[in-house]
Amino acid sequence: MNTTLADLVEQARRTGTIAGLPSQHWINGRHLPSVSGGRMETVDPGTGKAFATVAAGTALDVDLAVKAARAALSGPWCSILPAERGRLLARASALIRAHADRLAVAEALDSGKRLGEAQGDVNGAARAFEYYAGACDKFQGSSIPLGPDYLSYTRHEPIGVAAQIVPWNYPISTLVRGLAPALAAGCTIVAKPADQTPLTALMLGEILAEAGLPSGVFNVVTGTGTEVGAPLVAHPDIDHITFTGSVPTGINVMQNAAQNVTRLALELGGKSPVIVLSDADFDAAIEGVIGAIYENAGQICSAGSRLIVDRKIHAEFTRRLVERTSALRLGHGLRTVDMGPVSSRAQLERIASFVERARGRGVKVLCGGHSSSDPETGLGWFYEPTILDDLSPDDEAVQNEIFGPVLCVQIADTSEHAIALANGTPYALVAGIYTQNLSSAHRIAAKLDAGQVYINEFFAGGIETPFGGNRASGFGRAKGLEALQSFSKLKCVTARL
Ligand code: NAD
Repeated sequence: MNTTLADLVEQARRTGTIAGLPSQHWINGRHLPSVSGGRMETVDPGTGKAFATVAAGTALDVDLAVKAARAALSGPWCSILPAERGRLLARASALIRAHADRLAVAEALDSGKRLGEAQGDVNGAARAFEYYAGACDKFQGSSIPLGPDYLSYTRHEPIGVAAQIVPWNYPISTLVRGLAPALAAGCTIVAKPADQTPLTALMLGEILAEAGLPSGVFNVVTGTGTEVGAPLVAHPDIDHITFTGSVPTGINVMQNAAQNVTRLALELGGKSPVIVLSDADFDAAIEGVIGAIYENAGQICSAGSRLIVDRKIHAEFTRRLVERTSALRLGHGLRTVDMGPVSSRAQLERIASFVERARGRGVKVLCGGHSSSDPETGLGWFYEPTILDDLSPDDEAVQNEIFGPVLCVQIADTSEHAIALANGTPYALVAGIYTQNLSSAHRIAAKLDAGQVYINEFFAGGIETPFGGNRASGFGRAKGLEALQSFSKLKCVTARL
């Protein structure tokens, strides 16, 4: 009998977990325990209780996975034609859709996010495989005109063994946006999911095997950053690292990657502005700002965590925002709620301390501003959706990524002032603009320091649109056809005829 989504949700609510979750590393096409025998728990942030255990890896498991990935690079994988690679990725996409309910419930339990958001992430993962499936046999080089006596052309060769180090806020999304283009480019992969959210990466191992991926092409080692992440970065047989996570860890990864001159892409944090000009469509801008900061309880690298609003509309806009924000219902992600928990007690304490310090400085807290729990069970790690008003550009809450449901409001007097405020943090990941004047929107977009700018719809775009940051937000571009470039090395061949 097929298990329906309703069955899975009911099972999770009754028992705290779902049956059949993977619990070992995925190495060389099979489940393997840690060489050390170590285990670790994964916790449901909506209850604060452990609901599954997985292998706690060490450098020994990393070495097994890297060896498997290295061997697979010269195995059957390298002789599969690009068109067949595309068919395999298309099968993976269909299988992700077939297993979508289990993946979404596992993701919701592991990360705490609302089921609807987890379903969106799983659908996005299927879409990423579909997108790159179509690119496998179209990723072509070019010929270079040197005149009649030469033939010169470029080849895109797979970069080799690609490491994917993934954070806890978007486990399946972040993994797949690196994994799918890496496979399309012909690479092999060793993934290290975040310690807090290991499950969907392991489930993808099984799904890709079912799609026909040869053993060793995709491997997953679960464990902590110190025990698994650091040895993976330092491994001499890794050719490329995609690191998505915090700035301090990113700096550490960059320093360690330098020892082996390993290429890397860093996708780090953000403190992204949403500029709302006085001529904006009010309703669209309110909904846009709400989604930009409260989706996934604000735990999004590209969250619109700063509202930069024109002084002329500040009072009315914030009044409407407070009204909308105060109506948001918190609760466990598997119930019908507007916002789920934050990912850990440590994260909750960090958010609360930012808001307490802001209060201490005399900052006006328009709504929220307290830790909370699931109103049905009294459990879990929740923080009320919060708005801090009229912050100065150098305020600690403006300059730092809080990574929670805390919106920081800044007031601008002119468009130029709004641009200066928007560019006034160390981060440069995304930015949003709400205005009905598209000419000024595009003029402002050109002056914003950000990897992507959204006009009149925050988070507009999908796997097709390149994504990445500048300055402290990192470098390198994920998604789009740009991602294929980062998983290939370009060779130029030139012959004297
Ligand atoms: P983190 O830096 O603590 O951890 C990220 C990953 O790195 C985890 O898998 C962790 O186990 C691993 N890690 C930890 N120490 C390591 C080490 N020394 N060597 C190698 N790997 C190590 O970040 P986090 O708290 O898990 O995630 C939140 C951060 O991620 C936020 O700052 C957020 O903005 C950022 N983020 C960025 C993007 C983006 O695309 N730019 C996307 C999602 C999250």
